[in-house]
Formats: sequence, C-alpha cells, structure tokens
Amino acid sequence: MQKEGLLIVVSGPSGAGKGTICKRLLEKNPNLGYSISATTRAPRTGEVNGVNYWFLSKEEFQKMIAEDGLLEWAEVYGNYYGTPAQKVRDSLAEGKNILLEIDTQGAALVRKKFPEGVYIYILPPSLEELKRRIIGRGTDSAESIERRLSCAREEMGCASEQYNYLVLNDEVELAVERVETIIEAEQYQIKRNLNLLQAVCGE
Ligand code: ADP
Ligand code: 5GP
Repeated sequence: MQKEGLLIVVSGPSGAGKGTICKRLLEKNPNLGYSISATTRAPRTGEVNGVNYWFLSKEEFQKMIAEDGLLEWAEVYGNYYGTPAQKVRDSLAEGKNILLEIDTQGAALVRKKFPEGVYIYILPPSLEELKRRIIGRGTDSAESIERRLSCAREEMGCASEQYNYLVLNDEVELAVERVETIIEAEQYQIKRNLNLLQAVCGE
C-alpha cells in the first residue's frame, strides 16, 4: 500500500521569514510539493500568478468557496486567503509531502481535518528584528506594516496551543535545516511505518 504523504503547515507572524524558508526548502528538496494559495490581495512587485499565489477577484474567490474548492480560507490583514483542496488531497494520496504556508486561523481549520499533519511555527529573534524585516522587505505600505506588527505579538502568544514545533529563524540556512530535521523525524514515526513493521515481522 502507498504510504500517505506528509502535510506540513508553516505559520508565523508576517516578516518572520516563512516565505524565505519555504522557498529555500523547495529549492533543496525538489520532491517536496507546495500548495499555492488563492488570494484576493494584489500582487507585490515580482510576484507571479500561479507561482506565488493564485491572484483572484473577490467574486472568483467566493465562487471557489461556494464550490467547496478550498480546504480552508480566512481573512488576513483585510484580504482573503485560501488553500485549494484538490492539490493537497492529490499529493497526499500520491505519497508526496506537501507544504502549506498559511496563517494561524487557516492552520486551526486544517488541523481539524488533518490532525496527523505537522504544524510548525516560525519565530523571529525579536519584535524589533521582525519590524526591521517587514520594513526591509519594502513591499508593504506604512498602514499594512502597522497592521501586521500589531497582530504579531498577540499571535505569537497563541502558538504553543496550536503547533507541534517552534523554529527560530535567526539564520535562514539554520532555520531551513531545523525544518528539514523535523520533516525527517516525522517520517520515522512508528504510526507512519506500520507497513514496514508488518513486512519485517509478518502478520
Ligand atoms: P514572511 O513570509 O514570514 O512574511 P519573508 O520571507 O517575506 O517573511 O521575510 C521578510 C524579510 O525578512 C525579507 O526581506 C527576507 O529576506 C528577510 N529575512 C528572512 N529571514 C531572515 C533572516 N533569518 N535574517 C535576516 N533577514 C531575513
Ligand atoms: P502575505 O500577504 O504576506 O503573502 O500573507 C499574509 C498572511 O496570509 C501570512 O500569514 C500567510 O501565511 C497567510 N496566508 C497565505 N496563504 C494562505 C492561505 O491559503 N490560507 C490562510 N489561511 N492564510 C494564508
């Protein structure tokens, strides 16, 4: 029987480095799948439809909800974001690991459907550094930066309830290695290897 893929959810405050870490993980692990989210947010400079996000109008997004096409969706910083369901289900059925970079509301909804998933929270070294990173990214308006920062402290306080792992993003390469270690260890869990156990020990 095909072993099911691992559902890996990555969250963290805006500017913590989720996008940077996920990009590097995908470069280093070509077999890892990535769930491209749908959003009503406008593309930032350099963002490409179908690569970073599926950029949809509000009407198109609502149609996806109505057709049950989203695994979860949430309003984040004034825009809608959601995970298209089909790709996630197909990847898992094919035995392929898939990465979702979604907010805490979305992660809570996914966790109800996939309690066996791996839930990772990315933490910046400090709130000051978080602010520096958001400003340094140069993609958000002053209003958007304030909104993101004011959510960050409250959100980080709730991480312990909802996530299995906390990864500090002090250095990108170290943070990526930490996530890789988590994924590797998760794959050796006995509950994910009962077939192997049976094959060796017999019925
Ligand atoms: P998120 O996806 O969590 O909102 P990004 O990946 O866009 O965050 O990172 C925000 C900014 O911080 C980017 O400019 C990125 O290059 C930078 N950054 C990410 N990780 C680090 C790090 N470990 N050290 C310094 N800068 C970082
Ligand atoms: P950004 O606008 O910076 O790309 O993303 C803003 C927030 O939306 C981030 O916290 C990101 O994790 C979250 N997000 C991105 N895609 C999804 C999604 O499909 N579902 C949910 N719930 N949140 C998402």
